[in-house]
Amino acid sequence: MSRFWSQVVNDLTPYVPGEQPKIANLIKLNTNENPYPPSPRALAAIQAELGDDAARLRLYPDPNADLLKNAIARTHAVTARQVFVGNSSDEVLAHVFMALLKHEQPILFPDITYSFYPVYCGLYGIAYQTVPLADDFSINPADYTGRPNGGIIFPNPNAPTGRLLPLAAIEQILVANPDSVVVVDEAYIDFGGKSAISLVDRYDNLLVTHTLSKSRSLAGLRVGFAIGHPTLIEALERVKNSFNSYPLDRLAIVGAVAAMEDSAWFEECCTKVIATRDTLSAELGELGFEVLPSAANFIFARHPQHDAAELAKSLRERSIIVRHFKLPRIDQFLRISIGTDAECQALTTALREILG
Ligand SMILES: *Cc1c(COP(=O)(O)O)cnc(C)c1O
Repeated sequence: MSRFWSQVVNDLTPYVPGEQPKIANLIKLNTNENPYPPSPRALAAIQAELGDDAARLRLYPDPNADLLKNAIARTHAVTARQVFVGNSSDEVLAHVFMALLKHEQPILFPDITYSFYPVYCGLYGIAYQTVPLADDFSINPADYTGRPNGGIIFPNPNAPTGRLLPLAAIEQILVANPDSVVVVDEAYIDFGGKSAISLVDRYDNLLVTHTLSKSRSLAGLRVGFAIGHPTLIEALERVKNSFNSYPLDRLAIVGAVAAMEDSAWFEECCTKVIATRDTLSAELGELGFEVLPSAANFIFARHPQHDAAELAKSLRERSIIVRHFKLPRIDQFLRISIGTDAECQALTTALREILG
């Protein structure tokens, strides 16, 4: 608090990102990064951008990042007019809240979900109502029908539960809310889900957001995008061009293009993560954990006999960090990002020791 702060800043409750510890040799299973490196073609493209002509960084990047929009459009079989790109999907989401979710009526999202959503509501003064997940932590589409709202947003798979909603359920929500934008945050869709991008040509109220941080191993580059009807994209462009005309730098644009084009690398990394996830889920089950079915690159699990915060602390003493949320309904769960096979082996070995 300071007399120099605006009222808005005074009232903010900022998002708290997962820890990025500066300690070496940690097994870091807390922020859902990909354990595998990005495509070598992405690294080569970034090096070429730097190396070919050292003076290139002197010039502004393409404000519209057309090369990247075209690469994304090709990958997802849409037109470039249906694509918006930004400096991370968090930034894309921030623009979505401002451009498409700020209306008279409160917006709707699940009670257990990505904790950035209420933060954007606070930043932009958007009213919201949370919709409780079912007892099995699934989203019930019927809860989003017959309920006037200023918009709807949820991740699919949901975070931090990892549970996937089938496309038929998403269609049910879209059909029931023709006058609201329905935002499906697909940060984790590449780990086993079916993307709602296949529905954007049929529903002008659908916006799907993606990130290169998880399935394309580029959390450090900060690139995200949204796909939807050109009218929705235009709204995002209007906000973006009122905020920062050049959200993606030259290195991010060329790196992201190469990563989008290297589908073989992408598929191989996703396949490995999925296989490790399924092995780890089974092993935690054998240790007595209750593991929610996950379609993401993390699992959400609780042990009926052991306090989650205590478990997280004991793992930390063994240099393994996982995420624990001190929140209603989920404070007995741990969210564990899928690491390499060796990292997940180290985790189960440590847990076996801790559980005794
Ligand atoms: C990680 C994550 C994001 C943000 O991804 P960035 O592109 O790295 O900002 C958005 N939504 C959900 C649900 C996430 O888990």
